Amino acid sequence: MLHVVEHPLIKHKLTIMRKKETGPKEFRELLREITLLITYEATRHIEVYEIEVETPLEKTKGYYINDKDIVVIPILRAGLGMVDGILELLPNASVGHIGIYRDPVTLKAVDYYFKTPKLHDKSEIFILDPMLATGVSAIDAIGKVKELGGKRITFISLIASPEGVKALEEAHPDVDIYTASLDRELNDHGYILPGLGDAGDRLFRTK
Ligand code: URA
Repeated sequence: MLHVVEHPLIKHKLTIMRKKETGPKEFRELLREITLLITYEATRHIEVYEIEVETPLEKTKGYYINDKDIVVIPILRAGLGMVDGILELLPNASVGHIGIYRDPVTLKAVDYYFKTPKLHDKSEIFILDPMLATGVSAIDAIGKVKELGGKRITFISLIASPEGVKALEEAHPDVDIYTASLDRELNDHGYILPGLGDAGDRLFRTK
């Protein structure tokens, strides 16, 4: 299911990210900040456990989350720009990495790196990629994570295309998708319109 996180702060920050004049420093900071804000919504479902705490006045019931069960997996390379934002709220989460690119000839996903911590039934997994464009990488990454035993999976992006959302929902209907914006469409090169260009290039100034 798709969740577009609507919030004035997110809209404002995303608008600055879209501007072509915005440089890598500001782009990185804003991606971190928006990821943190989306994470607040995308973690509503995680389990809380009861605990007794003692205030200076009396004992009371409290709650904690087991953030050691949380696994954050950025899809390389642009997903790296989202890791700090989510870890700010979940500092004890484990971090895995998935490297995938789309072969320009076959248009199939090619994995070149895959390293995650051990996954189990209770692992709360958050897969990160700022641009959900064709959905090819996301579908492949989620498939691999499921093969390794991942069951509770949430996908977090910054901008999604209708085509990518449809493909991902068809391939993995059990996975919730969180995004800051559902944009208009993909162009012929697989870029999201209006989008913000190539997120990896803008983060790492590679163009
Ligand atoms: N990846 C990007 O970085 N931007 C797009 O618009 C699509 C995929």
